Amino acid sequence: MEIGKIVKVSGPLIIAEGMAQCKMFDVVQVSDKKLIGEVIELRGDKASIQVYEETSGLGPGENVYSTGAPLSVELGPGLIEGIYDGIQRPLTKLKEASGDRIERGVYIPAVDHEKLWDFVPTLSVGDSVTAGAVLGTVKENVLILHKIMVPYGVEGTVKEIKKGSFTVDDTIATIATAHGDVKVTMLQKWPVRRGRPYLEKLSPSAPLVTGQRVIDTLFPIAKGGVAAVPGPFGSGKTIVQHQLAKWADADIIVYIGCGERGNEMTDVLNEFPSLIDPHSGQPLMKRTVLIANTSDMPVAAREASIYTGITIAEYFRDMGYSVAIMADSTSRWAEALREMSGRLEEMPGEEGYPAYLSSRLAEFYERAGVVKVLGQEGVTGSITAIGAVSPPGGDLSEPVSQATLRIVKVFWGLSASLAYKRHFPAVDWLTSYSLYADRLSEWYGDNIGDEWMGLRADLMRILQEEAQLDEIVRLVGMDALSPENRLTMETAKSIREDYLHQNAFHEVDTYASLEKQQYMMKLILEFDRLAKDALNKNVDIEDILELPVREKIGRAKYIPENEMSKFDELLAEISGSMLALTEQGGED
Ligand code: ADP
Ligand code: MG
Repeated sequence: MEIGKIVKVSGPLIIAEGMAQCKMFDVVQVSDKKLIGEVIELRGDKASIQVYEETSGLGPGENVYSTGAPLSVELGPGLIEGIYDGIQRPLTKLKEASGDRIERGVYIPAVDHEKLWDFVPTLSVGDSVTAGAVLGTVKENVLILHKIMVPYGVEGTVKEIKKGSFTVDDTIATIATAHGDVKVTMLQKWPVRRGRPYLEKLSPSAPLVTGQRVIDTLFPIAKGGVAAVPGPFGSGKTIVQHQLAKWADADIIVYIGCGERGNEMTDVLNEFPSLIDPHSGQPLMKRTVLIANTSDMPVAAREASIYTGITIAEYFRDMGYSVAIMADSTSRWAEALREMSGRLEEMPGEEGYPAYLSSRLAEFYERAGVVKVLGQEGVTGSITAIGAVSPPGGDLSEPVSQATLRIVKVFWGLSASLAYKRHFPAVDWLTSYSLYADRLSEWYGDNIGDEWMGLRADLMRILQEEAQLDEIVRLVGMDALSPENRLTMETAKSIREDYLHQNAFHEVDTYASLEKQQYMMKLILEFDRLAKDALNKNVDIEDILELPVREKIGRAKYIPENEMSKFDELLAEISGSMLALTEQGGED
């Protein structure tokens, strides 16, 4: 339906008049090329429209058409393994259709509408259902069982339910409702700027286990939690995100790439599909939805991408899955927001970012959480959100970092100097924090054992003591330290190098289970404890530091998960060799 006319074109922003019947956030088609745009400001009959495609060649007087609907995504079988742009256009298919430079106005649906899926009903005629109830399932691939849910707003009794092969547009069930029969297909639509409803938000109580020691042990993130990874260029943000995508115990990964460097997204597009899911041996894409903002795409699509991503995440959460969503990097997203705001000639806030930067960021992160889902008794699902932030020069006082830090509960601060020393992950143990740690202690007690929190506290304490001792050493030199303090320095070094340092590219070291992490902590702390005893019995610190078992502690990270008994042997060796020293010491 033709409604308005363009009066001004300013890059990705278009002003049109005659738009009084439009609503905020309505999607419109701009010019006869039918470029997709979204109304982001309405004043009288004038609308500001952010256009998701290249606007060059457009001019005043051209038509604007209304779709009467807000920016929405398609949700249904075929989503998994999808590679999309910020408004869920399938990138690979677009490229097939129009070559490397995506043609304008090309419309290809997000999921395949022709493909047949085997629908297996789980409900029967006569069952009463509410929104969110699972009508049946589709085996989307070897890893993912896609649950077909009753759409939001529908409630009644199953009047008809089918079994067999269907496209996403075919009716698979009919629900008799108070307002008549509703035909249900396997496809849902949802407006991206509105969170999908749930029954109740719960307080996170289980960790998202990532296999990354510095994260799981020192700064854990809860399933349903929110974390930020700020760090300067080259400090390891992308590797952290990739490690989490690969190793975190989430069922579904939604990865939003906002490339930092020109060709970085091309890397993601090449790299991600080649990643192997270590849990299943299958390609990681088989449980991933990838959203890629390449640098040749208009900024407006980047602005929308995080909402598109989190809506897809919510859809899988609603099936009862644990979803992890990563955005790399939210700074690039914020720049898109800033550019659009500048073109709208809004009053700029700090460093040119709009005043609503924080609220927009919050609208993204607040959609994470653990929830009781709709329509399925006792079922919970979760979204864990992890955003990378790339402050210019690593200076966290800038607006995007500040706004993010006010929202998230976990902060993994990557340090340029650690990265420079090639200590990876370069998470700074003195500035990072997790506000979930205490809340998770019960989970650790039940699942790993009562020692976990104590071991963790000891690790933290020794690292803090090292920082204080460092000051003294700087002033008066290492020789001024007592043997006890020297031991503390050596133990801290062992914690840093043997424990926190973890090579993402090493076959074994890339992942450590919580059981292995606990064993590794025990090795280091048991050595420290027994060494302190030995010092008290007048054993020379040099003799302790020369014990060959220390080197074995250093190599413990390379012990494979299926050889845990080696840790018990090492623990025995530690006490054995320390005992030998003490006995010698006694003879002296
Ligand atoms: P950023 O995204 O912050 O710019 P990257 O994640 O691309 O930084 O990391 C830069 C480089 O640092 C990587 O190419 C890699 O060589 C190294 N690196 C980062 N994290 C690790 C890790 N956990 N193990 C080994 N090397 C790492
Ligand atoms: Mg990066």
